[in-house]
Amino acid sequence: MHLVCVDCAARHPAEMRYSCERCGGILEVAEPARLPRPLPGAGMWSADAALCVSDPAAVATLGEGGTPLHRAPRLAEAVGATGQVWIKDETVNPSGSFKDRAVAAAVARARELGMAGIVCASSGNAGASAAAYAARAGLPAIIVVPTHTPDEKLTQIAAYGARLVRVDGHYSNAYRVGLELAERHALANVTTTYLNPYGVDALKTAGHEIFDQLGGRLPDWVLVPTGAGPLVKGVVQGLRERSGGRSARLVAVQAEGCAPIVRAFESGRREVEAWGTPTTFASGISDPLVGYERDGTHTLDLVIATEGLAVAVADAAIRAAMALLARREGLLAEPTGASAVAALEMLLADGRIGRDATIVCMVTGHGFKDFKVWRAMPPASGADLPVGDRAAEDRPG
Ligand SMILES: *Cc1c(COP(=O)(O)O)cnc(C)c1O
Ligand SMILES: [Zn+2]
Repeated sequence: MHLVCVDCAARHPAEMRYSCERCGGILEVAEPARLPRPLPGAGMWSADAALCVSDPAAVATLGEGGTPLHRAPRLAEAVGATGQVWIKDETVNPSGSFKDRAVAAAVARARELGMAGIVCASSGNAGASAAAYAARAGLPAIIVVPTHTPDEKLTQIAAYGARLVRVDGHYSNAYRVGLELAERHALANVTTTYLNPYGVDALKTAGHEIFDQLGGRLPDWVLVPTGAGPLVKGVVQGLRERSGGRSARLVAVQAEGCAPIVRAFESGRREVEAWGTPTTFASGISDPLVGYERDGTHTLDLVIATEGLAVAVADAAIRAAMALLARREGLLAEPTGASAVAALEMLLADGRIGRDATIVCMVTGHGFKDFKVWRAMPPASGADLPVGDRAAEDRPG
């Protein structure tokens, strides 16, 4: 196992490194190590994947990964799809988002390297995940979040016993403080941008699972809620590894209030620039990429390589997609988690995705993680009978 720079191809040893010494580029894992044998019943570790760890004692698992792929016919009907629509349900991961795949692998590698604790900069979900796996591994954790992170996510982080550091302003400020803290205290940085190559590498398991769950075939499209984009990379890499180098077409979905990758895609630029101030309620993809713009550029390259798209959706459309997912398929998502469904509706309506296509939407985060949005959701018509009236109806005449 070693690390390779995605920009200049320089080779680095498989230490806890976060960028290329020569050019500052993103590092990815090459020839990943694997466990001597899979861990039965342990989610992504139970498949025979190479997840950068060779010592089973380093793995602190909560059963992350191995999530269901649900056929979603009632959702398909509602959005006007005539082909197959599938939901990859990442909300059932142990801490409620797909971040558990990356964090579990990054924490395992940190333990294997003998590191004393972890730091994670987060808009909420990665921090909750890092706090959970640190608790499971018996390691101290410092989680750095923007002050405006949803209360539910802050409560979840505190519940697992991690130290919480709140930083004013948007996510990129927290990212910078995370770098400083990890450096100063010699802790492993498990932040889930492209920073930690071992964490990013584990996201390929989502692509493996999609291919296997479809019976060994590629879907036409996969729609992915996108911040910096490691999940896009994971899906593309996993699909390519399973299908001899081919991939589905990827759609990177961002919110209109924070869409640096979409802005570059739409203007035909190949370099992503940082976004000013995010203005969306979708906290999980509210990442302006200030200081690590090349993360966005790497994601854009991947999207273009698959002949994919980058699209932005409005908060109102996300809210409608949350309601559709819950009321038509029984799936409760946080705003970010439903953004791919909002994009699907738009892309079917404007013809960029054919109605008969086979489509996978990644639903990335659980509805309990931002419950105030649900509390403010208007009830479906007919579902709002006051309890008193229903009692009156039920009484025998
Ligand atoms: C972090 C996050 C994303 C974005 O993932 P990236 O890999 O950073 O693009 C999407 N959805 C949810 C729920 C998240 O927490
Ligand atoms: Zn380099």
